Amino acid sequence: MATPPRSPRRSPRGNERRGPLGARPSSSLWYGLALLIVLALAQVYFVQPSGRSIPYSEFKALVRSGQVAEISISDQVIRGTLKDSDKQKAQFTTTRVEDPKLAEELDAKGVKYTGEAANRWLPDLLGWVLPLLFFIGIWGFFFRRMSGAEGGVMSFARSRAKIYADDEVKVKFSDVAGVDEAENELKEIVEFLKNPRKYTNLGGRIPKGVLLVGPPGTGKTLLARAVAGEAHVPFFSLSGSEFVEMFVGVGAARIRDLFQQAEAKAPCIVFIDELDALGKTRVQSPLGSHEEREQTLNQLLAEMDGFDSRKGVIIMAATNRPEVLDPALLRPGRFDRQVLVDKPDVKGREDILRIHVKTVKLGPEVDLKVVAARTAGFAGADLANLVNEAALLAARHDKTAVGMADFESAIDRLIAGLEKKRVMSVKERKIVAYHESGHAIVATTLPGLDPVHKISIVQRGFGALGYTMQLPLEDRYLMTRGDLLAQLAVLLGGRTAEEIALGEISTGAQNDLQRATDIARAMVTEFGMSDALGAINYDGNKRARFLDIPMPAERGLYGEDTAQQIDAEIKRILTDAHNTAREILTSKRDKLETVTERLLEVEVMEGEELRRLLGSEPTA
Ligand code: ADP
Ligand code: MG
Ligand code: ZN
Repeated sequence: MATPPRSPRRSPRGNERRGPLGARPSSSLWYGLALLIVLALAQVYFVQPSGRSIPYSEFKALVRSGQVAEISISDQVIRGTLKDSDKQKAQFTTTRVEDPKLAEELDAKGVKYTGEAANRWLPDLLGWVLPLLFFIGIWGFFFRRMSGAEGGVMSFARSRAKIYADDEVKVKFSDVAGVDEAENELKEIVEFLKNPRKYTNLGGRIPKGVLLVGPPGTGKTLLARAVAGEAHVPFFSLSGSEFVEMFVGVGAARIRDLFQQAEAKAPCIVFIDELDALGKTRVQSPLGSHEEREQTLNQLLAEMDGFDSRKGVIIMAATNRPEVLDPALLRPGRFDRQVLVDKPDVKGREDILRIHVKTVKLGPEVDLKVVAARTAGFAGADLANLVNEAALLAARHDKTAVGMADFESAIDRLIAGLEKKRVMSVKERKIVAYHESGHAIVATTLPGLDPVHKISIVQRGFGALGYTMQLPLEDRYLMTRGDLLAQLAVLLGGRTAEEIALGEISTGAQNDLQRATDIARAMVTEFGMSDALGAINYDGNKRARFLDIPMPAERGLYGEDTAQQIDAEIKRILTDAHNTAREILTSKRDKLETVTERLLEVEVMEGEELRRLLGSEPTA
């Protein structure tokens, strides 16, 4: 039941261009020829000088003999009338010859003469108007041909037409499910668009830009449209790739255009989908070929800065690759608010399925809870696809309703297709569940640690298979040795739980180990927390203070002996932490099972529930 992607690119004007090529120029050619013939005839009938035509010498002789009464001289011909003869023969014409003395002679003989303004329209028409029209025709013809193909060389000529506001977005928040946190954040935006005064009267500043971040297919585009649909405002939507053109400056011009139009339509929403296509980090390329994209990006940054969100234009963007975005885009005053749109948990998946089966005829035995439980790792788009697949399968078997069996085979089919996208197997989910439970139990048991906020085994887009999130109750500026040791035990808790429950360890703990080792090393070499080595900082002041960038792995100035001692100390500290974790988890073996089981069921567990399961005091 996927809503058809709205793409402004498909303008109906495409057809007009693809008429029988060549028909136009040749038909206008015929018109031109016919016109010429008519003109020539007109010339013959109306413009043709009347009277008999005589040689110039005869004309001169007539003048000299005093027979000419009056003449009129034009550019090329001389027309005249003779004295005293009958009307018929009195008229004559002669072709003009260069004759500077003519006027004198005429004066001498008393001939009345007048000049005649040349009638230039016909020669002008023939001389340059027609050729000009002809060339304009040819040029227009080729221009049309080149822009005819989609994305043709000249497609920038149509840029204005493609940016248009969609005033009637029908999507509502009720069409989106499983992304409650993102939804709640965006409801505030809707409030503002509906009633900007309420916020600005108090001097509040509404975020200018909202960036939706998350794996593909989780409903980012859908959410942006829902915001527009709920707030009843026009919705300008473009894809980032539409700004990247062949010609330098075209994308920038398009951005300018977009913002101009948006301002005129405020309050409204400007939505740039796939922002990463144009918002990639600006780099110094040896080929220097990113000129266009950078200009476009710079224009976007400039427009966002010069934009007053009080006018009621909110810029939304979506990306599934936030890590490649230019940091300048994420500065306050630009996309200062980031909303994570993550893959749904079981409950979310059930809700999404419920939305998508609305238009499908379901059999009575279909239990969407079961379907949701079987589709761990599916994003919203995958679920929409699943419902569609199931419906198609049912139709293929001439059923009157979509049954559970259709869902089952659709799931099997989709999972096979998603294998490349790494959907966790049942066994893998179990490992991850034990692992995260291990972290969480150790974190809840040891004193002096931040309480667990959330545990999740929903696969994230960025490689993590699960996470245990601890939130500090207060800002910390100092950590004691005890705090750090406890933290090490938590980090190793995941791996330890795998050992205890499954008798085997997986590669999933690699990141934990790395972080634990880093902390242990820092304890020994920087904080002087090792009794064996004493209060000495061995590594010098090599950490960059404000930059979150890894420093080169440079060794401090110490000898081989000391290096060995340091390594031994790190190992000792880690072994201690491992033992601590093992003691805790062995003594709470039953709790480890309970938490893991529950986690496999709900996939995302709040800290409160965890503490309840462990029977520990809720944190105030
Ligand atoms: P994204 O922009 O994050 O890649 P889309 O918004 O384009 O994903 O989602 C594609 C389709 O998948 C939507 O049109 C909708 O039918 C379905 N879908 C995705 N996420 C959800 C969701 N959270 N709730 C309901 N439907 C969803
Ligand atoms: Mg999208
Ligand atoms: Zn871990």
